[in-house]
Amino acid sequence: MIYLDNSATTRPLEEAVAAARHCFEEEYFNPSSAYGPAVRVERHINDARARLAQALGVAPAEVIYTSGATESNNLAIIATQFVRHTRGTLITTKIEHPSVFEVFRFLEDQGYTVHYLDVDEAGAVRMDALEAALNQSTSLVSIMQVNNETGAVNDIAQAYALIKSRAPQALFHVDGVQAFCKMPFTKVPCDLYSISAHKFHGPKGVGALYVRQNTPFLGGFIGGGQERGVRSGTTNTPGIMGMDAALTAYRKNQQEWVSAMRVNKVRLAEYIRQIPDTTINGPRPENGAPHILNASFLGVRGEVLLHALEERGILVSTGSACSAHKKGKNRVLSAMGIQGPRQEGALRFSLCPFNTMEEMDQTAQALFETVTFLRRYRRR
Ligand code: PLP
Repeated sequence: MIYLDNSATTRPLEEAVAAARHCFEEEYFNPSSAYGPAVRVERHINDARARLAQALGVAPAEVIYTSGATESNNLAIIATQFVRHTRGTLITTKIEHPSVFEVFRFLEDQGYTVHYLDVDEAGAVRMDALEAALNQSTSLVSIMQVNNETGAVNDIAQAYALIKSRAPQALFHVDGVQAFCKMPFTKVPCDLYSISAHKFHGPKGVGALYVRQNTPFLGGFIGGGQERGVRSGTTNTPGIMGMDAALTAYRKNQQEWVSAMRVNKVRLAEYIRQIPDTTINGPRPENGAPHILNASFLGVRGEVLLHALEERGILVSTGSACSAHKKGKNRVLSAMGIQGPRQEGALRFSLCPFNTMEEMDQTAQALFETVTFLRRYRRR
């Protein structure tokens, strides 16, 4: 099998599985309990939190563990609005993951004013649109760092500078799910930042939200007061320790792993360009995120090509996994002005550090043959 759907999820590293298993089988104690073995588990969680905080360039007390980025994104948006006495206006983009986009849609239904920023042809959020939308009433801006369908990278530093100069009262949330571990480990300038373990070879069902100290924040689960009272619920020790092991491996190998993904992505893109009537959607493969490549094969339906490749043991997707079962238009490609046959023929290839050059060669060969075959049946 050739697995090229790593933006949907990744295979957990052996060390992540081992760390989680250790918590299931040996150190299964509740870190909130009072006896020695539980206190030891609490110490492991605190150490893991410190390592995650260091990777994010923040303080451990600013990290909240969650069940993944859907929860982190929901919390970041709702818990910062819930606390306000007056309603400000909100800004997000047309290309956000549903766990951000649909939350803003929900708030719009509740009477909030939301601006949805346009993107350029390569799928990056337009900074002139952000500048125009910001004003004294803006209370929150949410922009993803890397788009999960195209690999477009947004200029978060510029966005932050614009927000803090034009609307200093506004908070800035960044969905960092597809960027964390793939981009250098430096502090991302923002007030809130979401990550998810299963996108970097950790377990599913665990993630985190960075909340800058003194950020007005009210919400989350109410209960036993875990996570500094913001997010109650018995600590997910196997998930957190599994995520910690995956992060440790990524931090140790980042340069090598990122360049392996980039080399393979560029190689695959070069092959794809040689197939007639194809286009790369999003940034140039040399730019953009190292692991995501989106391409359109004109005259072929993406779903049909997906299943034809599956028959040859190659797993890819037509877009976000969350929308794989939803019929209709692709919101992200539409925002980039990609419509009709170019949208219908789009496929996403998302890589991990463990894909090989041979896999790229085999995928290219399979693509060439299947696309040629399927095009014989296209309507003229
Ligand atoms: N944000 C982005 C950009 C994603 O790609 C995903 C997952 O597909 C999510 C958020 C949601 O993450 P989780 O699966 O941890 O809820």
